[in-house]
Amino acid sequence: MDIYLTLHRPGNCAPALIADENTRVMPLLTSRGCPYSCTFCCHESAGRRYRLRSLDHVFAELEWAQATYGVNAVTIYDDLFCPKRSRLEEFCRRIAGMGIRWECSMRAEQIDPDVLKKMKESGCCCIGLGVESMSETVLRSMKKGTTKAQVETALGQVYQAEIGLWSNLIFGDPAETLDTVRESLEWYANHPEFSLRMAFIGYHPGSRIYEEAVAKGVIKNPTAFLTSRCPEVNATAMPADECAKMRILVSRYLQSFGHAGKLVDFDSRNLERLVATCLCPYCGSTAHCHTIKPNPLLLATVNCPKCNRGFRAPVVVRLVATKEAQQQEAVVQDRIDTRAPVAAIESACNKLLALDPTNAHAWVVLFSLAKALGKTVESAILLEHAIYADPYNLALFEKMVEQLGLLGVGPAADKYRKKAEHLRRIGVDRTFFVDVGLPPDQEHSLRDLLLQYLKQSIPVASFPLPNAAPAMACAS
Ligand code: SF4
Repeated sequence: MDIYLTLHRPGNCAPALIADENTRVMPLLTSRGCPYSCTFCCHESAGRRYRLRSLDHVFAELEWAQATYGVNAVTIYDDLFCPKRSRLEEFCRRIAGMGIRWECSMRAEQIDPDVLKKMKESGCCCIGLGVESMSETVLRSMKKGTTKAQVETALGQVYQAEIGLWSNLIFGDPAETLDTVRESLEWYANHPEFSLRMAFIGYHPGSRIYEEAVAKGVIKNPTAFLTSRCPEVNATAMPADECAKMRILVSRYLQSFGHAGKLVDFDSRNLERLVATCLCPYCGSTAHCHTIKPNPLLLATVNCPKCNRGFRAPVVVRLVATKEAQQQEAVVQDRIDTRAPVAAIESACNKLLALDPTNAHAWVVLFSLAKALGKTVESAILLEHAIYADPYNLALFEKMVEQLGLLGVGPAADKYRKKAEHLRRIGVDRTFFVDVGLPPDQEHSLRDLLLQYLKQSIPVASFPLPNAAPAMACAS
């Protein structure tokens, strides 16, 4: 148990629960199973009957753990915590005063201001609320039993109660289409305050969607599927290229539209444990972000120790570019400095992006070229790539608003305008990049992963260009 407790440290665990190095968190189960039957959920593999422990039994364990190990935080691992209101209220009454912070998972219809007040007063600092999708079609297909309006109300109430949220939008239900994906993503872009996470649905044994995928032959060999650790499955009606598009849309929105805090300090003395100090964009308190990892696919997220709300640190970890990419970057710069023909600059940028698709400068150069040539649609697409690579750069968001305005698609510009307003309000005007070098084997695998992920969907620009280059200025 002592070893277990040392594993739960800032950066390793739910940020809202782990207040500091002195947090001693233990897992707790008060029930097994769940009375609901969402199609993606594999709780049924733990037994189809919903079973409860008595609260006397639960509190005897908790009091023993507190007395023996100084436990002061609890993650409740119940699939669904206390669907019965009277039990929830009794739990709150009994845990209040023990000096224990706790977190649990709930459904939207369990939430109201009164119960949230009791939970907060008794030490609850984070709720994993079942959100899953913001498309009614998908929610119905999941047999979730909640509506978009219910979920939205519950999220707002948790936010107002100053309890942290740990919730996901999940994509890839059999009823998913690019339209339903966009519905959820547009909603996400308009509600960055909830700091939702995003993921793709796993088809896990025990879930209804797994059984259907096997029955339909989407999963052809269940044994091979299990021994390969349940790889991704496309059980939607979307063809593979649309599925790839879904993935890139999700990663774009996730990277580009979350709320950020203002970075006030950054400690990079220990690359294993990078720490960003930020001001909470909601209450202004100081919060430390320990979730910065040397992996460009992970976002740096933090929960405010005062209001518990989640936000991003405006930090992106980049792998140090390969020697080849660095040389190519110099070629791009040389062609810009010597005012080479547009086609030559474009070709150098494309070569660079094939080596390093996260090179924001190359995307910005291509954007400037397309803009100078009056290619409004293409330039907006290129700018979107630049935003993805440099997601807290205020100037890029402002340019995007302008660009979409030129295209006459005002509503589409709204989410970029809101992000720009947010960044301006909290005083963030650029992304803070941390370049890390990794051991050669790790660098290789991470880079491959990133390239593979991005290459499948980022169309490296290739527009027909005139031979003579117009004078151009690159956006910076
Ligand atoms: S997702 Fe939650 S509510 Fe739905 S079946 Fe699973 S545990 Fe129950």
